[in-house]
Amino acid sequence: MKRGNLPLSEIAAVAPPRGTNERPADAAAPQPVQSPGQTPPILYIAGSGRSGSTLLERLIGEMPGFVNVGELIDLFRGAIPRGERCGCGLPVASCPFWTGVAQRAFGGWETAGAAALHSLQARVARQRRIPRLLAMRMTGQGFKSDIVAYGRYYASLYRAIAAEAEVTYVVDASKWPVQALALGRAGLDVRVIHLVRDVRGVAYSLNKQQVARPHAVGGAEFMWRNPPAGAAARWAAHQGQAELLRRCGIPVTRVRYEDFVRQPRHTIEVALADLGLSAVPSHLLPIGEGQVMLGRSHGLSGNPSRFRDGEIALRADETWRDQMSRRDRFVVTMIGLPFLLRYRSRHPGGLT
Ligand SMILES: [Zn+2]
Repeated sequence: MKRGNLPLSEIAAVAPPRGTNERPADAAAPQPVQSPGQTPPILYIAGSGRSGSTLLERLIGEMPGFVNVGELIDLFRGAIPRGERCGCGLPVASCPFWTGVAQRAFGGWETAGAAALHSLQARVARQRRIPRLLAMRMTGQGFKSDIVAYGRYYASLYRAIAAEAEVTYVVDASKWPVQALALGRAGLDVRVIHLVRDVRGVAYSLNKQQVARPHAVGGAEFMWRNPPAGAAARWAAHQGQAELLRRCGIPVTRVRYEDFVRQPRHTIEVALADLGLSAVPSHLLPIGEGQVMLGRSHGLSGNPSRFRDGEIALRADETWRDQMSRRDRFVVTMIGLPFLLRYRSRHPGGLT
């Protein structure tokens, strides 16, 4: 993948993000591991599953100067060990783009550097580490050293990605707030889009499963895989953690899935500006209202839509409004209510 490498003055970080740019006092500056050059700013998409993060990262990745890499956090815990396919259709381990990244960052996949990053990730970017990451001043030296090392390895990985794609910015749709927090604590320039979808849409989408009915005529039906209350509880926890990022000095802007699907171009433009990235209007041209053009990307994990390209129609998936039972809708609404009220739409029919 080759893209135009735009100078900072053309796209770019012309102003500090509106969120505070303060770095934690106890974070150490990341040092290069192998991949040389300047560590790129990371545009990190945080949010729960089924919130449209794959589409958002791909649209931003279409812009000159940006590359989207899907859920990078799954590189070692899923994409490589499970032989998953890259967005380009090839297994990640044999995709030329990721092979080039591995060479630049670690000297290959089967190296001590790659193993060290995997090991550090298992120690640092875990839900149970959030309290330590929030109170870094009070944590032990061993954990602080892990954070510094984690930042160094990830900085090398991001530099390798930016160099391989020849871009200025990396769009990482890893979604987990704890990962953004760990990278921010390590001193990386992480700017977060907190992507929020109505909890009822998320709970409905996460818990339905299309199952074939061998005796049904041309039929399939939806069945509940898990109680919607569990999905709603995980959604609420995700939003609460994402809101902590701003308090830790990480620039955050919030994007509603429903707004993004209705007005993708305007929503992306506002979000980038909010994070100190002023996009040139012509760079937003592939992003229409109602339909978008997507090229091949090398996104990891995420929604199967990462394999689709060409012209894609955008529409908000709000089947939950018709399909979700009253009982489930009530339970999910109650669990997510504090956040639903805070994030409620200015559009008619948003929170109903
Ligand atoms: Zn690929």
